Amino acid sequence: MTRDDAHRTDLTRLLFDGTYEEIHADIREALLDPLFDAREGLTLQEAGRLAYERSRFLHGKLGRPREVVRAPRRLFALAEWPSLLDVSVFSLLMVHYNLCFGTVLDHGGDRPDLREHVDGLDALRSFGPYMATELGYGNNVASLRTEAVYDPVDGTFVLNTPDALAQKFMSYSGFTDVPKTAVVMARLIADGSDHGVFPFLVPISDAHGLCAGVRAAPCPEKPVQGLDNGVTWFDHVRVPRRNLLLGEMGGFTEDGAFRPAPGNQRKRFLRAMSRIQPGRLCVSSSAVGAGRASVYIALRYAAQRLTNAPGRPDTPILAYRSHQAALFPALAKVYAMTFLLNHAKREFLASPDAITADLNNLISLTKALSTWEMTEVVAVCRERCGAQGIFSVNRIADYGSLLQGLVTAEGDNQVLLATTAAQLLASRDDGAARPAPDPAGRDLLEPALHAELLGYREDSLRRAARAEMTDGPDGQTYFDAWNGTVNTALAVARTRGARVALESFRAAAADARTEEVREALGLLASLYALTEIQRDAGWYLARGALTAGQAEEIPARIDALCARVHPHVPLLIDGFRLSPELLRAPIAADDYVAAFQRLAGAAPADAPADAPAAAGRS
Ligand SMILES: Cc1cc2nc3c(=O)[nH]c(=O)nc-3n(C[C@H](O)[C@H](O)[C@H](O)COP(=O)(O)OP(=O)(O)OC[C@H]3O[C@@H](n4cnc5c(N)ncnc54)[C@H](O)[C@@H]3O)c2cc1C
Repeated sequence: MTRDDAHRTDLTRLLFDGTYEEIHADIREALLDPLFDAREGLTLQEAGRLAYERSRFLHGKLGRPREVVRAPRRLFALAEWPSLLDVSVFSLLMVHYNLCFGTVLDHGGDRPDLREHVDGLDALRSFGPYMATELGYGNNVASLRTEAVYDPVDGTFVLNTPDALAQKFMSYSGFTDVPKTAVVMARLIADGSDHGVFPFLVPISDAHGLCAGVRAAPCPEKPVQGLDNGVTWFDHVRVPRRNLLLGEMGGFTEDGAFRPAPGNQRKRFLRAMSRIQPGRLCVSSSAVGAGRASVYIALRYAAQRLTNAPGRPDTPILAYRSHQAALFPALAKVYAMTFLLNHAKREFLASPDAITADLNNLISLTKALSTWEMTEVVAVCRERCGAQGIFSVNRIADYGSLLQGLVTAEGDNQVLLATTAAQLLASRDDGAARPAPDPAGRDLLEPALHAELLGYREDSLRRAARAEMTDGPDGQTYFDAWNGTVNTALAVARTRGARVALESFRAAAADARTEEVREALGLLASLYALTEIQRDAGWYLARGALTAGQAEEIPARIDALCARVHPHVPLLIDGFRLSPELLRAPIAADDYVAAFQRLAGAAPADAPADAPAAAGRS
């Protein structure tokens, strides 16, 4: 093994938490199939149908949902790779494998009376939509209003949509000729009482169209993704009692009366939505995957795209410090979010069936921070590729569309962060307030100073927000108090996320087995930390945690760090296990001009037909 190979192997080990060969390599391999080659000229409908075909292909190659859901690392990997080549495939696979099939397994298990449905979903004879969101109920989905009224006479549930606000929204029902069996979240009504929201298995369509009583209409078009998000409603659809996925959330007496399990409706609702936490980790996995690919493409392009520079006519754009100061912090964020996600995945895997409040908070912070940071990364990379950045075939523009969905889906970032912040504020005070770090004589690149600054900001804002909540004027309502605090509270949660990301980053760097990898990761961690501190430099200065000289110096220190990171960049992107051959983005090729010409059909007639493809290492 060469020295380069050893560094690369070490980085891959850290990035994929030691699971690349076992969990990721065959998914990556499957995506080399020509089915994932870029297609030009498709209508959005055709692109959506192609996403279904590609999902079926991956299902055939990579194992049944039953195996994947029981091996969460495999599920997260499946969220990470296919969206690099078709952003719509992410949504289809994750809804089918995690939200729909996962809910069936969690609450229907291996019940023999469900076998026919379960086998159909497992074999992908039916796609499995997940229908929770309604036109009137998004982030407030717990208040959803689709009804499932129990009829004890024949032991069936009657599913009905009482009004427009209760129509199911966004779930995949637009292609009505694709066989589908959905998990539908509905309000269980028995003996005239509302027992809260439970999951039901409901046949939606077969090869001949919609099932009796099910109505659906496609949502309007959205950019890039041609999937069949729809509006779905139910007109007194009868499903047998066995289609209620009850798990341990209740039961029926011998004479057929429904009895919910002890506990309140809210708790049962959270139990019914059991796939949401792994779902959020899937969302983060897809986001960091897209972030890694974006910086990989943008950095490879910037290294070969030439421009003029004073006294040097043909200079790679990446030689400019302005380009480095955009792309290297993006690279640092990609690493930081990867290590934060690895930490959250590990914590989840340690207790997948008993999600504590702390773990739930960590997952929410990871989802919100990673999708927001990657949104920025993708936007920066797109812009730094100039006109080439706007073409779908160069991938980054499509990742921008993916990220817009990821920020909103499975719990909107702002709401997730606010919910987490409220819990952080409510948690017990743990001792004395942290003092502001004394900045005198400290170097801005000291890792200990970074940790102290972020820790101090989190603690200090949390105490301020708690005081704001409790010290308001007499008679203020809880909502007034929260409204006066919410933006500080959001800053608390965001800072906590950044602090944990930095800790995970430093731990990964310390775990490196080669000196070069340790050095490269150490520099990149400092770049991430300094970029974070720069966001709030005014606040640190006002608190005396930074001196005026230090605050002023940050941009120059970031520039200097970029210069030191530069020689490590080829190694840092090599560990991602991406390649031009996999991504098929002309600007990621070894010779972007030849690759673009070939793609656009602009190669001169006498050019060799088999001009060297931009072979990448796998
Ligand atoms: C690509 C995509 C695919 C989807 N697929 C599915 C699917 O298969 N099945 C399904 O059931 N659903 C699906 N959804 C719906 C998704 O779960 C919802 O979009 C999500 O829950 C947010 O709801 P909403 O869009 O109605 O936002 P809203 O709740 O309308 O929020 C709008 C804005 O208001 C803010 N806001 C809302 N509540 C609060 C609050 N309490 N405090 C402060 N601010 C607040 C939010 O931050 C947001 O900016 C999908 C969504 C997307 C984008």
